[in-house]
Order: sequence, then structure tokens, then C-alpha cells
Amino acid sequence: MAALLDRPVGKLKGVGPARARQLERLGITRVGHLLEHFPHRHDEPGAEVSLVEAAQGSGRLVRVQGRLLDISEARPRRGLHLIRALLQDHSGAMMVVWFNQPYLARRLQRGGQLSLTGRVERRQGRPQLVNPEIHDDRDGTAGEPSFLPVYPTTAGLHQRGLRSLIRRALDAGLSHLSDIVPPAVRTRNDLPDRDWAVRTLHYPASAGELQEARRGLAFEELFVLQTALTLLRRDLVEVSDGYRHRPPAGELDRFYGGLPFDPTPAQQRVIEEILTDMAAARPMHRLVQGDVGSGKTLVAAVALLAAAASGSQGTMMAPTEILAAQHYETLKQFLAPMGVRIALLVGSMKRIDRAPVLDGVAAGEIQAVVGTHALLEENVQFDRLGLVVTDEQHRFGVQQRARLQSKGGSPDVLVMTATPIPRTLALTLYGDLDVSVIDELPPGRVPPATRWLPTGRRAEAYGELRRQLREGRQVYVVCPLIDESAAVDMKAATDLHVRLQRHLPPEAVGLLHGRLPGAEKQSVLAAFRDGRIKVLVTTTVIEVGIDVSNATLMIVEDAERFGLAQLHQLRGRVGRGSRPGLCVLLADPMTEEGRERMRAMEASSDGFYIAERDLELRGPGEFFGTRQHGLPDLRIANPVRDVDLLQSAREEARRLVYEDPLLEKVQHAHLRAIVLDRYGEQVSLALVG
Ligand code: ADP
Ligand code: MG
Repeated sequence: MAALLDRPVGKLKGVGPARARQLERLGITRVGHLLEHFPHRHDEPGAEVSLVEAAQGSGRLVRVQGRLLDISEARPRRGLHLIRALLQDHSGAMMVVWFNQPYLARRLQRGGQLSLTGRVERRQGRPQLVNPEIHDDRDGTAGEPSFLPVYPTTAGLHQRGLRSLIRRALDAGLSHLSDIVPPAVRTRNDLPDRDWAVRTLHYPASAGELQEARRGLAFEELFVLQTALTLLRRDLVEVSDGYRHRPPAGELDRFYGGLPFDPTPAQQRVIEEILTDMAAARPMHRLVQGDVGSGKTLVAAVALLAAAASGSQGTMMAPTEILAAQHYETLKQFLAPMGVRIALLVGSMKRIDRAPVLDGVAAGEIQAVVGTHALLEENVQFDRLGLVVTDEQHRFGVQQRARLQSKGGSPDVLVMTATPIPRTLALTLYGDLDVSVIDELPPGRVPPATRWLPTGRRAEAYGELRRQLREGRQVYVVCPLIDESAAVDMKAATDLHVRLQRHLPPEAVGLLHGRLPGAEKQSVLAAFRDGRIKVLVTTTVIEVGIDVSNATLMIVEDAERFGLAQLHQLRGRVGRGSRPGLCVLLADPMTEEGRERMRAMEASSDGFYIAERDLELRGPGEFFGTRQHGLPDLRIANPVRDVDLLQSAREEARRLVYEDPLLEKVQHAHLRAIVLDRYGEQVSLALVG
């Protein structure tokens, strides 16, 4: 019988080719899709009122009943069709107008009794009912529905038409909806049946019902997602033979003794969590989040040390060569004095430099190797890979992490990110990882002040630039990265570079963008570090990791183009020394939301707050400012609002996969099909056992 739901929507009576095309634009190709085309809101017409009462409010949704008098049609100009009628009840009369719905004319009869729901607007001081819904048996809204579903729709497809179609599908298909969430889970979490929830989400009888239906379906959505994530993390549920990393006592004390500073309490806590994970046989899968400058490198160093001192190898992968080189330098300072043999491996290295690294890694002589994607290549073989650290996770994605992991037995995995991901979203995105947060900056570090200026006041920003240069400071000028075209980005940065060179000593202005050859990038960066370059014009390649403590000012051009999390990362580049930093955002946002975002940047230096705001203002889809974040598409659940549901869905998913690792049980068959349908390939591998 489920076949009914799988039938093409065009097979439904009254759905011709044109209508089918409109529906397809909404993602509806099968009858079953209609059931899951949920309203984005409900109108609450409330109880019926008299026309006199209705006339009193303006812009208000009212439900009225009366007799239609004069009905007329007109086409005052091209593209505009009007139906006008006079509606009369015991209290008086009101004009009713329908715009561009000529087909309604057939349905309206002079003298006919009608029940209507619509908004009252005033035209030349007189109230009129605009585009009201007509209630009769044809669209299934006869009687008194207290909540009218309002659906996302598309050009040419009217709310009324869509509503009646969905209504028919509900009536025809509902008994075929089987539950996805298994009965035991539903009982434990007190969830409604799926068919009740689906119907109720369209036609609730009360606000309470609506909320209950939403809860049930949001749980289901999160549960399917968490089941997929759990399947990807087999080892959680299987006895696993990972490395037990237990560095000899004294090694860590010796390490701390050599540090020029004391780790912050937050660093200590996170290090503790990591060392506990690493000591256990079960492989670590941990995400470390820490705001820019919170000191993640030290944490990575301790993990690499723990691996090396326990006799295995570690690797750290960074998203760019610049970052890899920088991590390498820093880690070497931390680890070389401890006797750890560490090397760098990046794509631009010459063969002759690369060969000894490959040999050393294969022989197990090199204990820690830092690099880029080059680490993923076939010819990189480890002797005993026990720890994989990846930096700035969202640029890699699960696939690449898995590839690096596969170079070892069951290595410990540590993912570091400076993108402050709200905890809620982290659970959705990285449901397969445990999360640690370094929620504290080293003492004395003052976050940069941030000012938003409209571009009309650009001169002030560049006045500040001159002032800081006179004081011997250095400056970043950031041009936005436009995803579609690296060439366009390059041009924007190049133009600005040329312009600035006209006003400043040309040799003092450097240019850095993603298209530069690796060696040139390195030399520009080195010149900026040495202070030969005073002003660095750059695209977002500097987003992560560059550490030049004399840089105290950053000017961001077209700041509204960036995600807030990204801006936050960027501004973390200034004021890294003893002097406070200043970040100037040049932007003319067109929308109130855009202005809100700039104000949020000015108001807070807390990366997590910024991230929550960004998520709120732009939704998860835009959150990372790029489309490659791999965020699952959630239609009902909201990871920010539904944290509690997310937690329980996660626990239930883990429990279920533990009991039935391949989802073989009959009662899990539907769930299995849905998980495969939504999360496809990656998961299907996990399900073959
Ligand atoms: P991020 O988390 O952004 O990667 P880093 O690891 O680059 O931060 O650290 C930022 C700076 O703070 C570095 O110069 C580092 O040496 C310094 N640092 C790290 N931990 C501490 C600490 N506990 N006390 C003082 N300085 C620290
Ligand atoms: Mg870092």
C-alpha cells in the first residue's frame, strides 16, 4: 500500500502537467511528498465575527460569513485581474477583492452564502476584505478549523489550490504512514504516532497539539540524523583495539617545566580530557573548540607528545601550507626539546626534501609529522600511526578525516577548530565526536576592539592606518573572498594593493592571496613577520593561524560579505602582542539584519555569542559563510531551539545502534531505509558490517 505514496504526483486527479511542474519546483514529485510539505505557519482566523466588527480592525485576519451581492470582473491593466464583490450580513456590508484569481469567478454566485477568511485593509478610508480564503467542502476547510495551514508555495500555485491538494493526499495516504522511530523509543520519549503527528502538523486543533506534533517530527528528524552519525562511529559500539597511550610519568612534568608560561585552567582541563581518552583502548574521537588565541597549539603539542612518548606516531593536518608551516615551527619549539623527532610535509616541497620525510615516517623514525592534504597521499605510509590531529575541521569534512585515520589501525582522533560552533550545532554537525571547549584566553590578552564604519567614512579608517604606521605598527587590510571566483577575489585584492602603493611607500605594502605560488606566499609572510612589509593586503587566507604580534589594526572591506564567525576569526589576528588591537569593519549592509550583524560584532568579543547570533540571524545554512560545511538539511528541527530533543535523540540513537549495529531487526527496517535514503553512501558502508 505504501506504493500509493510513491506514485508520481501527476497521477492525482486534477494535477495536470503544468501543476506538476509547479509542484516539482517545491520538491514535490510524489504523492508522499505532499504529506511532508509542511506549513511554515498557521493562520488563526478565530471565531466568526460580524462585518461591522470586522471593519474595525485593519490588517487583522478575520472570519466572516455573508451573502454575495454585486460580483464584477475587471482587467484594469495588463497582468492585473480583479474580482470585486459586495458581501452582506445582518450587520452591514463590505467590499471583497480577489487579485489575479480569475478561476474563482466560476465559483462565486450572486446571492450565494459564503464563509470567508481574510485580512481587512483600508482603501481610501474604506475597509475591504482582500484575497480571502473561501471555505466550502471543496478545499476541505468547511466547518471551523481553528488553524489554517499556510504553505510555502511558488509562482502560479495558489495557497488554496495547494491546500486542497495536500488535504486530499492526507485523506488518501495517511493510513499508509508507518512509524520511523521504533516503538520502544517512542514510548520512552512519549512521542506521538507518526500519522497523527503528520496530520496534526497540517491541521492542529489547538496550539498544544501543534507543538506536540512538531516535537514528534523534530525528534524523528534528529533521531534519523543521529543514527546515521552513530553508524559512522562504529567503534563507539564495538569493542575496539585502539592504542593505549600512556606516556611515562615525568615526561609531562618535564614538558610543563620547560614552558615559558603556565597553561590556563581551561587548557589544563581539556588536556586532562584528551589524556584520559588517549589512555583508554577505545579510540579517542574528540573535538576541541577554542576561540582564536585560546592556545590550541599547546594542547595539540601535549597530545603529540603523549603519543610519541608512548611509542607511536602522530600527525597533524592543517588546511593551508602557511598554517602547516606555522604549526610546524611552533610544535617544533615545544617538542624538539623533549626529544621528539618532528617533520613537515607539504605539497610544494621538492622531491629531494620530501623523500627523507617519507622514509622517516615509514620507518617510524619521525614521530610527529605536520602537513597539509599532502599527508593523505598514497605514498605516505606510517609505521605506527596512533594519533591523528586535524586543524580547522570544517574545511576537511568527514571523508578526509577518515582517509587519514585509515593510515593507522584505530588511531586516536583529535579535531581542532577555532570556529566557535554553538554547542547545539556542534552536536548536530559533529554528533560523532565528544566535545571539549577551551573557554578562556591566556592572561593579559585583551580582545581587539571592533568598530563598524559605513564606507562613506573609509577615510577615517585609512587615517587610523597612517597613524598606526607612524607608531611603528603593522596593519592587515582584508578583501572579501567571493566563493564563486577566486579570480575575482584576486582582482579585488590586487586593485586595492595597487591603490595603497600609490599612497604609501610601495615596498611597505604586500599582497597575499590564495592564488600565489606557495613559495611566494611564504616570502610575503616572512616579510610581514620581519616588519619589512607594514601593510598586508589579503583575502581570507589569513583567516586562520597567522601570528604577528606587532599587527594592531585590521581593516575589513565589504565586511557584510563575511559570516560573523569568519569576521571573528579574522579580527583575532590583531592585538596578539602586548598592544590592544583594533578592527574596523567597512560595510553598508542593505538590510536591518545586516546592520544587526555588524552591531553584534561591535558589541561582543565572545566567539560563542557571535556564533549563536549568526546562527539566529542567518540560520544554519549560511552559518559558515560557505556551502561546503556539510550541514544536514533539517526541515522541522532547529538545532538551537531543540537542544533537549537533540540530546535525547542522540542517546536513543546510540542505544539503538548498540543493540542492533546493522539495523537488521524488523522493527528497524523502515528506519534503515530512511537513513540510507537521507545519508546515503557513507552510511551504507557502515551497514554492510
Ligand atoms: P589558537 O588557539 O588561536 O591556535 P595559539 O595556540 O596560536 O592559539 O596560541 C596563541 C598565543 O598564545 C601563542 O603565542 C601562544 O604561545 C600563547 N599561549 C598559549 N597558551 C598560553 C598560556 N597558557 N599563557 C600565555 N600564553 C599562551
Ligand atoms: Mg591555531
